[in-house]
Amino acid sequence: MSVKAPFGTSRFFGKGFEQYLCSMSKVRVRFAPSPTGGLHLGGVRTVLYNYLFAKKHGGDFIVRIEDTDQTRFVEGAEQYIFDCLKWCGIEPDESPLNGGNFGPYRQSERKEQGIYNQYAEQLIKDGYAYYAFDTPEELEKMRSENKSEKNPSPQYDHTIRLKMKNSLSLLPNEVEQLLAASTRYVVRIKMPENEIISFDDIIRGEIKNETGLVDDKVLLKADGMPTYHLAVVVDDYLMQITHAFRGEEWLPSAPVHVLLWKYLFGLSKMPKWAHLPLILGPSGKLSKRDGAKYGFPVFAMNWTDPKTNELIEGFKEKGFLPEAFINLLALLGWNAGTEQELFTKEELIENFSLERVHSAGAKFDYEKAKWFNAEWIKKLAVGKWQWAVKEDFNSKGITINDNAKFEMILNLVKERCTLLTDFYVQASFFYNAPETLDADAVKPKWSADKNQFFVDWIVALNGLKNWDAVSIENSFKELAIEKAIKPGELQLPFRIMLVGGKFGPPVVDIAAIIGKKETVNRINYALNLF
Ligand code: GLU
Repeated sequence: MSVKAPFGTSRFFGKGFEQYLCSMSKVRVRFAPSPTGGLHLGGVRTVLYNYLFAKKHGGDFIVRIEDTDQTRFVEGAEQYIFDCLKWCGIEPDESPLNGGNFGPYRQSERKEQGIYNQYAEQLIKDGYAYYAFDTPEELEKMRSENKSEKNPSPQYDHTIRLKMKNSLSLLPNEVEQLLAASTRYVVRIKMPENEIISFDDIIRGEIKNETGLVDDKVLLKADGMPTYHLAVVVDDYLMQITHAFRGEEWLPSAPVHVLLWKYLFGLSKMPKWAHLPLILGPSGKLSKRDGAKYGFPVFAMNWTDPKTNELIEGFKEKGFLPEAFINLLALLGWNAGTEQELFTKEELIENFSLERVHSAGAKFDYEKAKWFNAEWIKKLAVGKWQWAVKEDFNSKGITINDNAKFEMILNLVKERCTLLTDFYVQASFFYNAPETLDADAVKPKWSADKNQFFVDWIVALNGLKNWDAVSIENSFKELAIEKAIKPGELQLPFRIMLVGGKFGPPVVDIAAIIGKKETVNRINYALNLF
């Protein structure tokens, strides 16, 4: 395979290229996941770019479930994909869940309707595909016999096909007999021996492939199911897909797809392709194992593999806001050409353009991801995400009944939080007295005078008429002046008493919120400890 153009074709066409791309018919794009497991960062970015492009051009965003590989089917994976899309705020226009005019939207159901077989038959009839009757043992034999240092994994291709058991090597009556006897077969594409197949990738420019280097991929399996290669082409055609953006791992399959388009429907109907760059982790391609290794999530939401019961943490559960998540993903491989980094979904739709998607891999930086989240925590009204923090508090044993008070507390500490899960550390002391106090931070400078200050201050606090931050602070300062102790020296002990450690918002604000009784209780408890 050779990639010719160093820049996207869009750059050669100049401005207005995207308009040109979309001028022909209504834009229809699809996200076509196979329900085989958790939804990886790269997968969500693919969804997002498809979605942003569709919405920018007033088009349709379709979700099609590619579940033709029964051996890779994973229980719960489809529902999980829809849950992730919902969390991200990405609504499909057509999908197995909300239907549409081009259904069914699950390939297994489309197979039931016999949609794919006719195309496989047509390819055989036209001489572009053939029946292959080889048993697994015969295939294994072919591989071991042809294996060499130069060719470690021999493929079923034009160099070998005539030595195998298929409708190209057998006589027509032999083929008929095998078919009549219901012998198991697959249908393979007959890759031309010596052709150059090229197509224009929107991001990468012209991509050329030598067909002779590609194997005769299976199109229809022995169980009658189409493979991905046949199904993706047939469905993109029947669903009138105009643009297809997918991960660059699909580049090697592109020549097979281009040929199928040429043979079945004509190249002029083929969607415009864009193969999106990989997302890179600290050591090359970002894998789901990287999460555990480097301590950051790689899936959108928690995913538990039903076979191994292994739980892989998601961005949602880690404490990311969906607004931050899609914002940071959009910028992994694309930029608006300005300094702007924070984008709402609507701003992304407005600004997104394929012309500014890079072809080089985009490095995922977890620290930067957290920066986005912290910015979004500050940017969004607390009311928008309060429920998520409430759930987190709930799961850790704190039930929130007073929403208005909770909102006030979250506003008070939000500048200190990067993840939604940070709020528990930063604000649980408003509800429960701290479990441990950092007495070591106080003890070295603790004195009988300071102890007496707090003993007397309790009396003063009990007599306070108004319980608010200003009144508490005034009473604190007055008593400190009277006792000739610098208020600064008393502040840290007071903070440790209420919060347990050296953190949190202004301590008088905390006292005002937790109330007189609780404040006095915490001071008393700490005095016994210091
Ligand atoms: N089913 C393929 C996947 O899971 C889709 C590839 C494509 O978009 O063509 O990635």
